Amino acid sequence: MLNADNIIPTTCPYCGVGCQIDLHVKNGLIYRVNGRFDNAVNHGNLCVKGRFGFDYVHAQDRLTTPLLRHARGQSLESTSWDTALGYVTNRLQTIRAEHGPDSIAFLTSAKCTNEENYLLQKLARAVVGTNNVDHCARL
Ligand code: SF4
Repeated sequence: MLNADNIIPTTCPYCGVGCQIDLHVKNGLIYRVNGRFDNAVNHGNLCVKGRFGFDYVHAQDRLTTPLLRHARGQSLESTSWDTALGYVTNRLQTIRAEHGPDSIAFLTSAKCTNEENYLLQKLARAVVGTNNVDHCARL
């Protein structure tokens, strides 16, 4: 049996249930995921995605930085989070000023935590001023 170098407590990234998990890491690789018993969300249980769906973490073609296309026709280039977030902020401000808040919509994800989804709707309603908020799980 492998002994982990690190056991990292975290939240399952797959859905808004937010099951609590322990990542067992050996030589920098996740080799096992266990559900945590000491919480009220999942009491040690995990569905098949949470228990076995972690191979993407080590995928060679996984995106690890934001990509930005500076102009139509140009290819995507790797950039920093500060640059990407600054670009998005400027574009949203410009679109809102030129076309109004309802020209912008937010689509969030079941892969976000409930807290992240809450923050996104707050950003939409309180900052941008639109109720155009939808979610991939609505269907
Ligand atoms: S995908 Fe499964 S294990 Fe992960 S949070 Fe959702 S129900 Fe829990």
